[in-house]
Amino acid sequence: CGIVAYVGVRDAYSVIIKGLKRLEYRGYDSAGIALVNGGINIIKKKGKVINLEEFASNTNLDGHIGIGHTRWATHGIPSDANSHPHTSGDGRIALVHNGIIENYLTLKADLLKKGHVFKSETDTEVLVHFIEDIRNELRCNLEEAVRVALSRVVGAFAIAVISVDEPAVMVAARRGSPLAVGIGDGEYVIASDVTPIIEYTQSVIYPKDNEMVVINGTNYKLIDLENNLLE
Ligand code: GLU
Repeated sequence: CGIVAYVGVRDAYSVIIKGLKRLEYRGYDSAGIALVNGGINIIKKKGKVINLEEFASNTNLDGHIGIGHTRWATHGIPSDANSHPHTSGDGRIALVHNGIIENYLTLKADLLKKGHVFKSETDTEVLVHFIEDIRNELRCNLEEAVRVALSRVVGAFAIAVISVDEPAVMVAARRGSPLAVGIGDGEYVIASDVTPIIEYTQSVIYPKDNEMVVINGTNYKLIDLENNLLE
């Protein structure tokens, strides 16, 4: 029900966990965070953000790029396995999602035929496998794979996506679900509303439906799903 993502010089975990607490008023049943730091480190748990924090306390939380989520279950019961972030089959892409992918059963049937194995009952896990499948098929980068996937998806989403293969890149996009992008001094805070962002920057953009923000290190661009550059 809420997403928070960070790219920049700060410790991503601290910014994200604080942001998730700011979004708690929206209601949720589970929480999770993924950080890129050599590999992808994922911590996720059914329950409150405070439980996630306790669960995380003995793990490696280093990293300057990460995504976080509080879940309001729509597809699949509240459980650790159904919590976000979800990962691709090869474990190289992680994604958080608010909303509902309406054609996920059709997409899932195709992916199962291709040999994909799923660990959850969520519509969201299908989306990250779909992105992986497109990336492998087109041999393209993360940005392109997300763009092509979203142009074939029916439903509502706000997403943030990271990959070990492009450790400075964050792709975020929306249709129907809310998303705000805070542009700081060489850093970015993305969230479902502005409350996790205001502490870091006053400069905020609100992507419209079917728009994507691609951050690469300290640079960013706004594009639509037809790959037109908007800013
Ligand atoms: N449909 C997704 C799920 O059930 C996302 C729910 C949400 O917006 O939190 O996992």
